[in-house]
Amino acid sequence: MLGKLAQRFANLAFGGNCYLCRGAAAGVLCAECDADLPRLAAAACPRCALATRDGALCGRCLAQPPAYDETVAALAYAFPADVLVQALKFRGELALAPLLGGLLASRLPRGARVDFILPVPLSAARLRERGFNQALEIARHVAAATGCALAPQLAERSRDTPPQVELPLVERTRNVRGAFRCTRALPGAEVALLDDVMTTGATLDELAATLKRAGAARVVNWVVARTPPPADA
Ligand SMILES: [Zn+2]
Ligand SMILES: [Zn+2]
Repeated sequence: MLGKLAQRFANLAFGGNCYLCRGAAAGVLCAECDADLPRLAAAACPRCALATRDGALCGRCLAQPPAYDETVAALAYAFPADVLVQALKFRGELALAPLLGGLLASRLPRGARVDFILPVPLSAARLRERGFNQALEIARHVAAATGCALAPQLAERSRDTPPQVELPLVERTRNVRGAFRCTRALPGAEVALLDDVMTTGATLDELAATLKRAGAARVVNWVVARTPPPADA
């Protein structure tokens, strides 16, 4: 699944040992750990990727359609996918980006095309503090795998917002309202929003709405990991 270059990079970074179990591995993960990654249910809402019977639209997307049209998620946000995502984001283990990007790219429908891939932007303050945008690092590999244009400058944070993870689920929508600004008109464009984790989808919904106001015809979410349905939904 990993490209040769990514594999060589991983071997340099991890010495040919599986990142999770330290066993011998040709890539970042050994075959066993790769096979054990938490997958999502095959039948899921096409719009938000939560499990539904027969893959029908879920009740929430029917009642309150989000601004995005579709969600593809590579994994469920559960152990050990959460370990990998957090190691990239909080410990700066950038060598995990090709693994996560490769997992996501392999989950996309064959020949998936968009005009632009937009990694969800961080605020300037968060970017300074972290030094990199994990969504952009993952997006580089998805762009290379799909041949779609990587366009991190398409939108920016217009204001700083408290991290979603620190807020109760019900406050997350309000927290991100007006958080993004599109930097150009996007008449008829198809855009994929790329992020590491999708939880309530409030951030992606707000960003998709911003792009559609700028003229985008279709906005899809490409995310590495999807959390299970919120307990209070
Ligand atoms: Zn392993
Ligand atoms: Zn749904």
